[in-house]
Amino acid sequence: MKRIIRGHHLLCIHGFKGMGYSPKFIEVMSSIVEDISHDDTDFPIQVVQSFDDACQACPHKGKTQCEKSEDSNTHVLSLDGKVLHHLRIKHGETYMKSEIIKKTATLVQPDDLDHLCEGCSWLEYGVCKEGIQNLKEKVLS
Ligand code: SF4
Repeated sequence: MKRIIRGHHLLCIHGFKGMGYSPKFIEVMSSIVEDISHDDTDFPIQVVQSFDDACQACPHKGKTQCEKSEDSNTHVLSLDGKVLHHLRIKHGETYMKSEIIKKTATLVQPDDLDHLCEGCSWLEYGVCKEGIQNLKEKVLS
């Protein structure tokens, strides 16, 4: 198994609570989250700053860019870029899941999401910061 995951989705997966843009998108995100949460399974993840596995199921996916709103593509690309930089990983490179999880737990603080996820409508619900906090407790304790 190999997953393609875009930068900002590397954070979203830890706070995902079954909300999303369509039933198909929710189904795909749920399956990614399930794969990520299985401690005994490791697999390669190609990290991208472009469409990923989840985007393929999104009703807002256009031919070449996110079409959720006028500025959504610029916005999600900027979120991807910030997360890749913060995690010190590169677009197009492949990493093992365990490595990505460890980097996320070590390098991301819940309040970093105020900057990393600035402008995301899900941020105010608090579930994403909670997800990062739970990850840190699980991986670093
Ligand atoms: S706030 Fe938005 S971009 Fe950030 S982790 Fe949550 S859903 Fe993803």
